[in-house]
Amino acid sequence: MKKWKCTVCGYIHTGDVPPDKCPVCGAPKSKFIDVSELEAPAPKPAPAAVSEPEVDVPEAPEPAAAAKPVEPEPVSPFKDSRYRTMFDMMTRFHGHPITVHIPNGLLPVSILFILLSALFTIKGMANAATYNMGVVALTMPLVLFSGWVDWQNRFSGAITNVFIVKIACGIIVTVTSWFLFIWLLVNPAVITTPQPSRVAFFMINLIMLGAAGTAGWYGGKLVFRD
Ligand code: FE
Repeated sequence: MKKWKCTVCGYIHTGDVPPDKCPVCGAPKSKFIDVSELEAPAPKPAPAAVSEPEVDVPEAPEPAAAAKPVEPEPVSPFKDSRYRTMFDMMTRFHGHPITVHIPNGLLPVSILFILLSALFTIKGMANAATYNMGVVALTMPLVLFSGWVDWQNRFSGAITNVFIVKIACGIIVTVTSWFLFIWLLVNPAVITTPQPSRVAFFMINLIMLGAAGTAGWYGGKLVFRD
């Protein structure tokens, strides 16, 4: 039995061959590397596949202490950004899970208030739902941004079905929350007064809830790797 590591999310698979698809992040088989040897005494690394012509390089005469550290080549514009420190801090201090809790906490409350105020015609509760929806809409750009930073930092921006679904859900929640918030500001009576568009209003609320739940479910999979 060998051990295979997903190079996107770090999931470890035990078996003779790697899985067709990473069960955590959805990365294909080709993204798995054999890490069985890492537990045994490390053999000398194999020579590079591309043979380099031997060049007689003169030894560097300058003392090591004075040598300027060689900067690694920038891997992507993201890694070379002057906002690098901020991006690192955001991931290290769990910026995405923290920001996600703001709309994820308010969103179900907003929908609950919308349903209750529709059932019992409670205008104050409809107002509360509007304010909650406004905060959801305002915080979603921050959630998308922190999610993008985490995706780049932790998963090198790998494009697998899990990340595509998470990004799509994030965009759906952002667009629907802004749409519903503006709708409530323009026509607050949509909740409590029966009108043709009310069913569409409720349906969009449910779509938003489903998208938020799906994004959270995949986020849990990536964090807890099961
Ligand atoms: Fe993975």
